[in-house]
Amino acid sequence: MKKLIFILLVVTGAIFAQHDTSIVYLGDIDSTILTDVKYATSDNFTGKVLYPTAKVYTRKIVGEALASVNEYLKSNYGYTLKVFDAFRPLSVQKQMWEIFPDPNYVADPKTGSRHNRGAAVDLTIVDENGNELDMGTPYDDFTEKAHFAYPDLTDEQRKNRDILNEAMSKYGFTVLKSEWWHFDYKDWKNYSIIDFKLTED
Ligand SMILES: [Zn+2]
Repeated sequence: MKKLIFILLVVTGAIFAQHDTSIVYLGDIDSTILTDVKYATSDNFTGKVLYPTAKVYTRKIVGEALASVNEYLKSNYGYTLKVFDAFRPLSVQKQMWEIFPDPNYVADPKTGSRHNRGAAVDLTIVDENGNELDMGTPYDDFTEKAHFAYPDLTDEQRKNRDILNEAMSKYGFTVLKSEWWHFDYKDWKNYSIIDFKLTED
């Protein structure tokens, strides 16, 4: 009987772990990951301030995977991650869709974005001097050149995109074909769209 209870506890524990609904502040997991949240400023494709805070929030498990990627880049290249966006409230998704209703670049709020689940992240890499690597386009460049496999890049740009992709893939992330900076975490389907309200710092 004791054994059965133990097994039940382990099984239910595993189910709860898979359905983890926690959204955490990324800085609490790895304070060395740099951030530059464009949506907390008007310097983004909407021209509007969309977030009340420049703090990055994400699912705990996603944040932990990012910390592993950051550690990997640091020890192998001396590089650091710089995050532009992670968890995004559904209300902000609606505002973006009104301005740019192209499903190649902005998810329809009817189905929601993986950002709304806290399971996607937009990011780049900076070198040891704090300079962003040349990825061929800036963040949120809605052109074909931003496609991950765009063929007409310099060798340097190709190499930089590949380093980011290789490091992210190693820890469970998959790049979005149309955006070199966007990655989905492997378990994104386990996480529902969450109504976590961002507040001012
Ligand atoms: Zn994204």
